[in-house]
Amino acid sequence: MTGTTMHQATDAVGTDAVSAATRDAIEQVEAHAAHNYHPLPVVVTEAEGAWVTDVDGRRYLDCLAAYSAVNFGHGHPRLLAVAHAQLDRVTLTSRAFHSAALGPFVEALAALASKDMVLPMNTGAEAVESAIKVARRWAYEVKGVPAGEAEIIVMEGNFHGRTTTIVSFSDDPDATTGYAPFTPGFVRVPFGDAAALEAAITPRTAAVLLEPIQGEAGIKMPPAGYLQRVRDITSRERVLFIADEIQSGLGRTGATFQCDNEGVVPDVYLLGKALGGGVVPVSAVVADADVLGVLTPGSHGSTFGGNPLAAAVGLEVVRMLSEGAMQARARELGERLHAGLAELVGHGVTEVRGVGLWAGIDIDPAVGTARDVCVRLLERGILAKDTHGQTVRLAPPIVIEESDLDLLIAAFREAVSASR
Ligand SMILES: *Cc1c(COP(=O)(O)O)cnc(C)c1O
Repeated sequence: MTGTTMHQATDAVGTDAVSAATRDAIEQVEAHAAHNYHPLPVVVTEAEGAWVTDVDGRRYLDCLAAYSAVNFGHGHPRLLAVAHAQLDRVTLTSRAFHSAALGPFVEALAALASKDMVLPMNTGAEAVESAIKVARRWAYEVKGVPAGEAEIIVMEGNFHGRTTTIVSFSDDPDATTGYAPFTPGFVRVPFGDAAALEAAITPRTAAVLLEPIQGEAGIKMPPAGYLQRVRDITSRERVLFIADEIQSGLGRTGATFQCDNEGVVPDVYLLGKALGGGVVPVSAVVADADVLGVLTPGSHGSTFGGNPLAAAVGLEVVRMLSEGAMQARARELGERLHAGLAELVGHGVTEVRGVGLWAGIDIDPAVGTARDVCVRLLERGILAKDTHGQTVRLAPPIVIEESDLDLLIAAFREAVSASR
């Protein structure tokens, strides 16, 4: 049994290239953890900043940063310090009682987003689920949509998480196959097409839910001016504009929110990933009181949402972002990254998309699949992730050194010049 699964786990580099320590660790996971991932054959034991170390003592530059959950680097001293201090005080009270840590966090996060209120949750999917509930309640209680008829408009190619309701409006067969029946109440339109969005709005439309840049789809950017048109249409039609900034937000694109880069203010921000500083899961729905005010005691909840440890770490994340240095660094280093990657177009790369320290790189099939390129990067000490067959996604921690960024670009050039 493990013979077959081991082959799957190590086929990419060949079993010979993998040490006994690495092989044993992978074998244990393959035997006892559900196979809902297909990781590269590297087993991490430690990490600091932009670098991780594996069981054999080899070091790798982490250019995925846990899908942007580690935007501020592994073990950021400020985040570790507040986490350690909070561990010694109190970690969990439930929301049945107040904790002293929650107030400062929600006040600071609301201020960062220039909104009134925060609904703290844990995972990104929970923030999305919560926003769907809030939007529906808002539609019935505030907008006056007939009971049970609210619609939410979503985008083709969307990724908002893995719950049954969220996958109900995904068009990715990998995310949906075998999970029917699905939750009704969603209408899908092409991403980036404002006219199609406008045409899909009815008197029953509660909200438009979108990623300002589609991350899992391969760092897909909408046309210039699209988000502003979405804002204009939703304001005019009295529809909530919900921006899922779980991956695009909190510094990644060189701004606090990708919506900032487009000069747009949505009604609702969904945050997660980096909000927990790579330490604990922290997510949030952030909006004004006329929206989040539809929640009343008992109408929604979460045992762990807003717990003291999460709030302490989340507060420090918000403080770091309030200072602006992370966003500035992502913007500056992002220019260097994109300048370097642009030179590869036509040389094993067909297209590069993205902004800030975020890039989707389409690999020319003549040099292999995106996974082939990720394996070659791994052999060169770089961790990166493929998505949708031909796209490599790069999202290094914002604390990455300039010289390490140059190392990444050089390794990438080698990885796409090798042919299959
Ligand atoms: C990762 C992600 C989610 C889901 O977050 P989880 O913490 O994995 O539940 C939702 N939306 C977007 C845009 C994401 O990138």
